[in-house]
Amino acid sequence: MPVTPALLPELIAAVSETINQHADEVTALDQAIGDGDHVTNLQRGLLALSAQSAELAQLDWPAAWQKIGMTLMSTVGGASGSLYGTLFIALSKASREHAFADAFMLGVEAMKQRGKADVGEKTMLDVLIPVAQHLQQATHENKPLNVILSEIQTVALAGMEATREMLATKGRASFLGERSLGHIDAGAKTAQLIITALLAHLPAQF
Ligand code: ADP
Ligand code: MG
Repeated sequence: MPVTPALLPELIAAVSETINQHADEVTALDQAIGDGDHVTNLQRGLLALSAQSAELAQLDWPAAWQKIGMTLMSTVGGASGSLYGTLFIALSKASREHAFADAFMLGVEAMKQRGKADVGEKTMLDVLIPVAQHLQQATHENKPLNVILSEIQTVALAGMEATREMLATKGRASFLGERSLGHIDAGAKTAQLIITALLAHLPAQF
């Protein structure tokens, strides 16, 4: 089964469901080292995407990524709104010339530039960068899709867990210095939840 934007309503619903299910847990993480609004920021964006999902389903991938990026940029707010907005807008541009794994890496590169952040700074990038790298490498090695998808789950979990022992050097948590140690970053947690939900809803073969 080809993966087309017709799948987007189901994917958006799956992501909304996992964020809603973990809302209290993520809010507690963001209250510990941030300002506690990360879940409500994401939920605002997801509600806007749900309202557009029938329309998104009719588009091609570059147009769908662009619309998703613009919607997230204008509704989510906070650091995460501009970062996820940047990801999808860059993905849209890159997907006109590159296959998904390469386009996704270019999208994550755009986020790194936007946030002036890299791996090891206790942010969502500690999940997204290793996932993008693994996807790209495994795709170029022609690994079977089911293997790639299961490895990505593991990479995302490890990246999220690793933020616990990192010192935050970007975003609000960086104001806490050493006191940011010992807490998982909320944005890393939601990135991992989102990736896990998306992978669970992709068709087994595509
Ligand atoms: P805000 O921090 O502006 O309140 P959110 O609460 O929505 O925004 O998102 C916070 C998350 O954004 C953090 O947990 C972290 O993962 C991510 N983040 C913050 N600043 C940056 C940055 N400069 N680069 C990458 N990610 C960042
Ligand atoms: Mg916040």
